[in-house]
Amino acid sequence: MELASNPNNNMSPGKRDILNLSPEELKEELTAMGEKPFHAGQIIRWMYKGTTSFQEMSDLSGSLQRKLDSRFFVGTLQQLKRLVSSDHQAIKYLYLLLDDNIIECVVLKYHHGVTLCLSTQVGCAMGCRFCASTRGGLVRNLTAGEMEAQVLSVQRDLTGHDSGNLGGLVLMGCGEPLNNYVNVLKFIRQIHDPGGFDMGYRNITLSTCGLVPQMRRLAEEGLSINLAVSLHAPNDVLRRKIMKVANAYTIQEVVDAGRYYYEKTGRRVTFEYTLIRGLNDRPEHARELAALLDGFPCHINLIPLNENGQDGLRRSSEGSVHRFEMELEHAGKNVTRRRELGLDIQGACGQLKAAYLERKQDGSGRSDHGIRSIQSPGNPQENQ
Ligand code: SAH
Repeated sequence: MELASNPNNNMSPGKRDILNLSPEELKEELTAMGEKPFHAGQIIRWMYKGTTSFQEMSDLSGSLQRKLDSRFFVGTLQQLKRLVSSDHQAIKYLYLLLDDNIIECVVLKYHHGVTLCLSTQVGCAMGCRFCASTRGGLVRNLTAGEMEAQVLSVQRDLTGHDSGNLGGLVLMGCGEPLNNYVNVLKFIRQIHDPGGFDMGYRNITLSTCGLVPQMRRLAEEGLSINLAVSLHAPNDVLRRKIMKVANAYTIQEVVDAGRYYYEKTGRRVTFEYTLIRGLNDRPEHARELAALLDGFPCHINLIPLNENGQDGLRRSSEGSVHRFEMELEHAGKNVTRRRELGLDIQGACGQLKAAYLERKQDGSGRSDHGIRSIQSPGNPQENQ
């Protein structure tokens, strides 16, 4: 595929991404420019309406437009791919960043609304065995502006296709959000700002592999966002076989940090458990998990492994998933199975990007644009 050049490459190097500024910081910048701070509200409203050019912000004076333009740009992402799943319930986007790194995010349509699963890092340092995003390690953190740009780009696309508004955000794309703590918290506060996108904290879910100190710090922030914790095993021995992070923190420390989060915020905590055939999916694992979480009013979300060739790991059979769920229910746990959307567009973290890059390196440049595993039946649509 012929890659169109990244339009942002034309930005002069001295300019900064205005999406990286909080409303307060923008007011300070305006004051320093000799302008009135109230213009911040106007600028933010334009940006959240999807405007990316200061010249189009028609209620700003020409001189302010020019001043802004000489110092800032509104961060945008160049869409490399847009894939719609065969059931039309998921849309996956591949975006090119200013420095030519690639990120992905996915829109999931549920009966209660449209949710965006966004990325917080390019790559990931956490090294979970089954996860495609960590294959090449961590490349870099995303800025708050780059996370906002995902929201704005996707919202623009949904509006363009008459597909409604984003009602929720999950930080479950590529990367470990709590390993990019400062930028992620800045992003959450900015996207919540009532003068801007106005996303309710309760509609935001952050998923972590269990970085205990950061989970405790998050509990102190006074935000009522939802927390999801990737557990994937009921004990340390097994967890260490699956997740490198289990060597740094014990499972009890992770569960205690989750409990602390619940006590501090009153928000229900979800434990995610990816079911891998023959490894962590036996009924005794379910009973051990129930015992570990005994007395903790939490939620358990079961995710049958999305196979991606990692380490030859296989997805649990339907029967095992069902038995696992039944064991937990029997033990009185609140359990659901993740609704799997977008399997045919490589919905799990990092898979689409991995396939895209493989094909680029492979140099074949065939017309499937690097998307190897889209198969009929289903015939998901690809648009660019
Ligand atoms: N770093 C965060 C966000 C990761 S993605 C975390 O670890 O929680 C969200 C969830 O998807 C995590 O529970 C992650 O372990 C899981 N996941 C990643 N790849 C998967 C795959 N191939 N199959 C099933 N679940 C996967």
